[in-house]
Amino acid sequence: MSKLSIRDLNPAGKRVLMRVDFNVPLDDEGNVTDDTRIRAAIPSIQHLVDAGAKVILMSHLGRPKSEKKPEFSLKPAADRLNELISVPVKFASDCIGDEAADSVANLQDGEVLLLENVRFYPGETDNDPEFAKQLAENGDIFVNDAFGTAHRAHASTAGVTGHIDQCAMGFLIEKELEYLVEKLEDPPKPFVVIMGGAKVSDKIKILERLMEKADAFIIGGAMATTFRLAQGHEIGKSFAEREEEALELARGILQTAKENETPFYLPIDTRHTLEFEDDAPTECTDPWEEGGAIPADREGIDIGDRAIEEFERVIADAGTIVWNGPMGVFEKRGFDIGTKAVGAAIAANEGAIKIVGGGDSVTAANQFGFGDKMDHMSTGGGASLELLEGKELPGIAALDDK
Ligand code: ADP
Ligand code: MG
Repeated sequence: MSKLSIRDLNPAGKRVLMRVDFNVPLDDEGNVTDDTRIRAAIPSIQHLVDAGAKVILMSHLGRPKSEKKPEFSLKPAADRLNELISVPVKFASDCIGDEAADSVANLQDGEVLLLENVRFYPGETDNDPEFAKQLAENGDIFVNDAFGTAHRAHASTAGVTGHIDQCAMGFLIEKELEYLVEKLEDPPKPFVVIMGGAKVSDKIKILERLMEKADAFIIGGAMATTFRLAQGHEIGKSFAEREEEALELARGILQTAKENETPFYLPIDTRHTLEFEDDAPTECTDPWEEGGAIPADREGIDIGDRAIEEFERVIADAGTIVWNGPMGVFEKRGFDIGTKAVGAAIAANEGAIKIVGGGDSVTAANQFGFGDKMDHMSTGGGASLELLEGKELPGIAALDDK
């Protein structure tokens, strides 16, 4: 069932309490160094402003451990938002109590107020009902647009909904659900899932869940090395999950893929190095020996050239692509070849629905300039993974059904 959306509200003259994700990085002087998350919330904020609502924003920032520490103040975020939108942005130095109540009472229709960090109170992460009730006193309508924290049942994401009649999702959450849930219900075929990154165990539930839907899997990164180890290949000093438990998970996935006859592409060859450093010389394993052997003193850091060619062919043919996890250690120069090539191949498939999820994958796609070619770049790390696992997120489940 779909959730009530910000589009369905009649917010004119109402106090709309909106949970946003303004958990932005700050420098030593307290300036916002990356305002991506603030910009991302603007469509929902502007929509409410244009509709004549009183817009009251709340967020967390960092981990102040329930203390009012000035270095975790949201004031810099209010200042930045003020520069980005056409209406003045006010700031209240508390998120509950008289200070918040007075600031809210002074707000005119179409004005915006940001409340101080909700994590200055222990009741936020404890999802304390009393604290949630105090937060709820700031609004007549609740909107959640903080996708990145929607997988946490906190007072400002879930608890607050128990005390406000109308609770809707903002545009950001709506788009996340559209791509990570709805579009994957009946995805245009072939549906190709590309997974990489560090660990099989982090992503095992996604692999299991998407196994029912995917027409092919492409696996890279250290994750692929764990699969190769599970198959009995030599992996040298590579990063992998070497515990029997992880290897069992990997073997289980390989077995399921085989039973389902779902093509499961592991890298034919692996790029490896002696030194784990920028621009270190690298070599690929023997491309004629599937899975290859990484020498004992060397470490696999990326997929090899033959693997890239094969992956490019599969990606070019896809109708829907979900990409989660880089193909190698893309943070290091020279170890980023596979991630760049796979990103480029996805971007080049114009007809496909292209979805990128996971913090590092989104960073990589942006860093290599493919971000704007994707249909959806998920804004939540943990929250995106949980949605792909098919879980219900508490901050979304608590909203009203349509
Ligand atoms: P995401 O954040 O997109 O979900 P992960 O957090 O699972 O991705 O994995 C990203 C990390 O995996 C990166 O820091 C990258 O350096 C690392 N990684 C990828 N391939 C390898 C490899 N072969 N060896 C070591 N680390 C790797
Ligand atoms: Mg990550």
